[in-house]
Amino acid sequence: MKKQKALLIIKPDGVQRGLIGKIITRFESVGLKIIGLKFEMATSDKVIAHYPETEAWFKKVGERTLTNYAKKGLDAKIVFKTDDAVSIGKIVKGWLVTYFQESPVFMAVVEGYDCIEIVRKLSGNTIPVQALPGTVRGDFSHDTIDLANEQNRPLRNIIHASDAPEDGEKEVNLWFTKEELFSYELAGEKFMYK
Ligand code: ATP
Ligand code: MG
Repeated sequence: MKKQKALLIIKPDGVQRGLIGKIITRFESVGLKIIGLKFEMATSDKVIAHYPETEAWFKKVGERTLTNYAKKGLDAKIVFKTDDAVSIGKIVKGWLVTYFQESPVFMAVVEGYDCIEIVRKLSGNTIPVQALPGTVRGDFSHDTIDLANEQNRPLRNIIHASDAPEDGEKEVNLWFTKEELFSYELAGEKFMYK
């Protein structure tokens, strides 16, 4: 069985609120191996490359708004001037570029078996009000889609976590050089997975 790598980014709201240590501890305590750590002031190009430029991703993001607005009886056209999911997703991506540049972001590369599933579980639902207690987003954020969209910004949800093994590899290569990643053995590592 092959280990997976995941990229974690403590977004500017997490950095600004002084939550770096508390958050990293959760991933470390569960047994994932930290193999890279750093601060970076993100450029627009990096953020654009980080979030997918695919129709499928734009649609997923736009539909998140449309589903939430339908539930609350709100009209997406008031904020977005369109109710097309792909167009809404593109607007949210633009907001993400601004959000990521508010302050440095803090990044960690973690490694382990089923690492992607674990980091997503610990991070919690994308929408903070739906994230369960015990997760990073559930414990440290309470933002809503309609409030965020009305304020022309993305959800402030503290953390990014890779959500597929291929994305983990791609994102780690985008933000970290080979020299910034370290190989070592955790105490007891070889017994943990027997
Ligand atoms: P991330 O990729 O940051 O870990 P995620 O995988 O849970 O989050 P994505 O669908 O990839 O969710 O969306 C990326 C980020 O864009 C979200 O974390 C959130 O900050 C923001 N976002 C997504 N959809 C919306 C939306 N409809 N309205 C406002 N912000 C959104
Ligand atoms: Mg994502």
